[in-house]
Amino acid sequence: MKRILNFIDGQFRPPCSGRYLPNLNPATGQVIAEIPESGPEDIDAAVAAASRAFESWRRTPAEERSRLLIRVAELIEENFDELAQLESEDSGKPIALARRIDVPRAIHNFRFFATAILHAETPCHMTDDRALNYTIRQPLGVAGLISPWNLPLYLLTWKIAPAIAAGNCCVAKPSELTPLTADRLAELTLEAGIPPGVVNIVHGPGGSAGRALTSHPNVPLISFTGGTKTGADVMARAGPLFKKVSLELGGKNPNIVFADADLEQAVATSIQSSFANQGEICLCGSRLFIEKTIYEEFVDRFLGATKKLRIGDPQDASTDVGALVSEPHLRKVEGYVELAREEGGTILVGGKRPENLPERVQDGYFLEPTVIAGLDCQRRVMQEEIFGPVVTVTPFDSPEDAIAYANSTRYGLSASVWTQDLQKAHRVAAAIETGTVWVNTWLLRDLRVPFGGMKESGVGREGGFESLDFFTEAKNVCVKL
Ligand code: NAD
Repeated sequence: MKRILNFIDGQFRPPCSGRYLPNLNPATGQVIAEIPESGPEDIDAAVAAASRAFESWRRTPAEERSRLLIRVAELIEENFDELAQLESEDSGKPIALARRIDVPRAIHNFRFFATAILHAETPCHMTDDRALNYTIRQPLGVAGLISPWNLPLYLLTWKIAPAIAAGNCCVAKPSELTPLTADRLAELTLEAGIPPGVVNIVHGPGGSAGRALTSHPNVPLISFTGGTKTGADVMARAGPLFKKVSLELGGKNPNIVFADADLEQAVATSIQSSFANQGEICLCGSRLFIEKTIYEEFVDRFLGATKKLRIGDPQDASTDVGALVSEPHLRKVEGYVELAREEGGTILVGGKRPENLPERVQDGYFLEPTVIAGLDCQRRVMQEEIFGPVVTVTPFDSPEDAIAYANSTRYGLSASVWTQDLQKAHRVAAAIETGTVWVNTWLLRDLRVPFGGMKESGVGREGGFESLDFFTEAKNVCVKL
């Protein structure tokens, strides 16, 4: 069994506590590795290493930083199969998905920010003929990066790449549930020639290692992706220290289908936005609102497509739906199915653990894709993030109703709108309170666009130059003429 170590100052080190936590494969329930139970002392050591490395990394020319980041991208590419395999074993996601999304996007993250820093510009303002103002952007120092388990390598690299491209050093704390690809990434940064201390990775629970990072006085910047409740704790600790904070949090995303939509595409893509990665993507559309005149036809087709999804061994290339990440998480999701019944909802399909799973994965944490009807928007099942393969379907009468339903939660991460009427699409997109609105698509990502949530789905934007802005401090220099 693999014993994972912390990666500090270019070396793999045991945790100061000497204690380890088990890491499970959620498809089998078997322990596959153990990870350091790190705490404040480990974070201290990593922050000290990052602070030392910062002195020379901040002065390393952008071209050289770019070259090193591109080398990391190449190494991820060279180890594509192994990383996809590790990601699938660690998180329960279908290997086909890890190959299609997680690993390619990790490569893209490094390539994108490696080249973005070669094209960054800063403004210059003439104050009549009295002064010349120019802006310089400088890295802050040690960036604290905390990431979740649902897209482990993808979201970790989404933070590490811009942080170090901009000239910061970093201490990253991946989710304790999915440490394997972070550990492999540490090795690849070493192989790429990233200097010791520029990237540090400390494993362990959020309550000890994560909190030590968010409250560390020498970490001026925190980029956090995870649950909304945890985000509040991160903010509460980082706030009094006046850290720069970016929070990418939970979602309860609406998927609105108008009667004039291309129904075939709307159904096919809604299946993806409902059940991809077992519904464990913050951007999954978990509330489907369907215009009343096509409600029955849409639901018929949607249920038919749901029943065809293949649930099974994530290692099987033909599997569509894998295992949920852990037993407690499976119980939580099942609890919401139960709650839906108590709230008066009808389970149209799914709602139980699948039968006839292959022998290897009989003890895994699987749940059938589940569709629930008959709940009004104020019910808890319609308000709270479930983060599993569970969606609700609700009819609506008018665009105004659809907008009101979409905006009826505390979340505001993303939405999809399906219509062939462009005027309506623009009007509805402008009225929805989310950071992203997709029209006639879902999860189509361009790294240049701003990404983030409104309301309780987050604070700040990352993506493209927004990320480089976040990971640098703007300074105005005013020269009297
Ligand atoms: P989580 O909040 O439990 O954990 C996220 C990370 O924070 C983990 O590394 C964890 O160890 C750490 N952590 C936990 N408590 C902490 C604390 N008190 N201080 C500092 N760090 C702490 O979230 P999760 O269960 O890993 O991930 C699922 C959640 O993430 C969902 O709500 C999902 O919507 C959200 N998410 C959001 C986005 C986005 O871009 N908005 C992307 C992916 C996931």
